[in-house]
Amino acid sequence: MDAMVEATATRQATVLVVEDEETLLFTVARNLKKEGYRVLTASRGDDGLALARSENPDVIVLDVMLPGVDGMQICRLLRRNTQVPIIMLTALGGEGDRVAGLDTGADDYLVKPFGMRELLARVRALLRRMHTEAPAAEPETTLVSGDLTIDRARREVRKDGAVLHLKPKEYELLLFFVQNPRKVFSREQILDEVWGYDFDGGPRTVDVHVRWLRQKVEEDDAHPQRIRTVRGSGYLFEG
Ligand code: CA
Repeated sequence: MDAMVEATATRQATVLVVEDEETLLFTVARNLKKEGYRVLTASRGDDGLALARSENPDVIVLDVMLPGVDGMQICRLLRRNTQVPIIMLTALGGEGDRVAGLDTGADDYLVKPFGMRELLARVRALLRRMHTEAPAAEPETTLVSGDLTIDRARREVRKDGAVLHLKPKEYELLLFFVQNPRKVFSREQILDEVWGYDFDGGPRTVDVHVRWLRQKVEEDDAHPQRIRTVRGSGYLFEG
């Protein structure tokens, strides 16, 4: 823990994800957790509805086609007594389905397949809107690793106090490393964690981004001390 200090200014927002596709549920949950949210999951509609009622989540990510009770029905039932923001996930994407989803009281919708960054942005936007309507402090988390400071609310990285100009994926890769220090990750694991399940590029993408990141965070990027290459395995972040 010495290299990493995590400070959470306000209570964590809770996100409930209801989705019966196991891989997607897992990926969405993992990405939300990585952003610092408390995550609840259900793979059946009836379980999701019960959790929504007992746990009072701050945002619900809700699939339309579900065993038990479908997403539209859940949305309609919840709207009788709660204004919790709801994002519908739909595989259909037709105009009619979109309108039907919003008619039942959903706040937003995403058409599958969608990118994890897009989903996270929508969740953030809904939470922000909710906080603006019922004023409360923004969830704010700052990570520190050596001379690096990552302000997650601003997506801003400083090294020795000076702002680093990182591309979005460089930022996400650095955030991943800082959150998972001193563990070896293969290129495939990093692709899956940082780029998400819908990315179809190859492991070389990771090498390229690591090279760019080293130029920005290493004292001497020819002899990297922070992001180490573990031969035959992948990469390890020293801190
Ligand atoms: Ca489904």
